[in-house]
Amino acid sequence: MVKAVVGANWGDEGKGKITDMLAKQADIIVRFQGGANAGHTIVNDYGKFALHTLPSGVFYGHTTSVIGNGVALDVKKLFNEIKSVTDKNVPMPKIKVSDRAQVVMSYHVLFDQYEEERLAGKSFGSTKSGIAPFYSDKFSKIGFQVSELFDDEVLLEKAKKVCELKNVLLRELYHKDELKVDDIMAELHEYRDMVAPYVCDVSKFLYEAIQEGKEILLEGQLGSLKDPDHGIYPMVTSSSTLASYGAIGAGIPPYEIKKIITVCKAYSSAVGAGAFVSEIFGDEADELRKRGGDGGEFGATTGRPRRMGWFDCVASKYGCRIQGTTDVAFTVLDVLGYLDEIPVCTAYEIDGELTTDFPTTVKLEKAKPHLEVLPGWKCDIRGIRKYEELPQNCRNYIEFVEKQIGFPITMVSNGPGRDDIIYRNN
Ligand code: GDP
Repeated sequence: MVKAVVGANWGDEGKGKITDMLAKQADIIVRFQGGANAGHTIVNDYGKFALHTLPSGVFYGHTTSVIGNGVALDVKKLFNEIKSVTDKNVPMPKIKVSDRAQVVMSYHVLFDQYEEERLAGKSFGSTKSGIAPFYSDKFSKIGFQVSELFDDEVLLEKAKKVCELKNVLLRELYHKDELKVDDIMAELHEYRDMVAPYVCDVSKFLYEAIQEGKEILLEGQLGSLKDPDHGIYPMVTSSSTLASYGAIGAGIPPYEIKKIITVCKAYSSAVGAGAFVSEIFGDEADELRKRGGDGGEFGATTGRPRRMGWFDCVASKYGCRIQGTTDVAFTVLDVLGYLDEIPVCTAYEIDGELTTDFPTTVKLEKAKPHLEVLPGWKCDIRGIRKYEELPQNCRNYIEFVEKQIGFPITMVSNGPGRDDIIYRNN
C-alpha cells in the first residue's frame, strides 16, 4: 500500500517525525518533490538529525530510501547527509536515485543568491538553495537529468546552451562572473561519479514493489500553502507540495495512493514572507517560539526564527482538503500546555465579512483573524499514550479543531520522539 505524509500548512508541521514513526512498518520511503531547501528534524535512538534530502526512513535498516524524479537533487548535499547519519553510527542506508531526477547545479545556488540580492527588501525569503532557478531550468528544458550525466555529447551541447543563456543575465543583470563550459562539465562529471552507484529506474522499481504488496511511504516537504498552484502564490515553493504530486514525482499510478496522512501542527508557524493571518508578535510569539517544536521554532535548514501564530482552522481546513486527507496527524500539542487560554483562528474577516474559506492571495492579504478562545489544560501531556487519559480541556481542543477542519484527527503527537504518539479510532 502507498501512503503519503504531507503538510497541511506552511511546512514544519512535524512530517519528519511522523514519517520516521510510520517508516517502522514501511519497506520504501520516497521523496517526490522539493530539494535541500527545507528540512525535517528527527529525534530517535541515534540522536537528533536535520535531514534535507534523505527521506526520514533512513534510520531503519530494513527500508530503502528513494529520491524520486520530482526532487531537486543536490548531489553534494545528499552525500554530506549520508555521511552525517553514518558518522552517528546509523547503518549505511540503501539508497536509490531516480534516473529521471535532475541535479541542482552550483550556478542555480548562485542565481538564487544573486536574485535575492537584487530584490533586496522585496525578496521571497528564499533559502538560497537554488530551488527556484533549478525548477525554472527544468521547465525551460535546460536542466540536467541524472540519465544524461552518462552521455558527454548530450552534456556538452546542453552546457553550451546554458552558458549562452545564463551569461547574458550574469553580465547584464547581475554583473557577476560568467559561467564556463569546462567548469560545468567538470561539475557534471563529479556528480556522475557520485550518483552512479545509486541510479535506478525508480518508477519501475516502485511499480514492482506495489505488485509485491510492499509498504511505500511518500514523504512530502513543506505544506499545502506553499504549493505553487494551490498555495499563497507567489510566496510559495517551486514544486508541488501535494500528495497528488506524489504520483508524478515518484512515477506511480495516482490510484495507488490509498492513505493521505496530513500533518497539522497544534499552532502555526511559517518561514519566509507572505500573508500569515493568525500571526502573533512580541512576547507572546517569543514565548511560543522558545517552547515550540523540540528546542524552539527555528528553521532546520537556515536556523532562522520562524514566524508564530495561533492555530488557523481556515488555512488548515483548506490545507487538508487540497491534500485529499484521509487522516490528520495533529502534532506538537504538548507545547501548548503552558497556556491558560488558547486562541484559535476560526474565520477570516475580509472586507467586513466573515468567511471560513481560504481565499486567493490578493484577498488573503486583507484578511484579519477572527479568534475564539479555548481554555488551556495547564499541564504536561508528554508520556500519555491513551486518548482518554488526556486532560478534558486538551481533548476539547483536539475535538474543536477536528470539527472546524472537517477531517479526522487519528493521531496526536505529544512529543518529538518516535513513541510520543496517541492513536485515536474515530
Ligand atoms: P517537518 O519539516 O514537517 O518535518 O517539521 P520540522 O522538523 O521542521 O519541525 C518539527 C519540529 O517539532 C522538530 O523539531 C520535531 O522534533 C518537533 N516535533 C515533532 N512532533 C512533535 C511533538 O509532538 N511535540 C514536540 N514537542 N515536538 C515535536
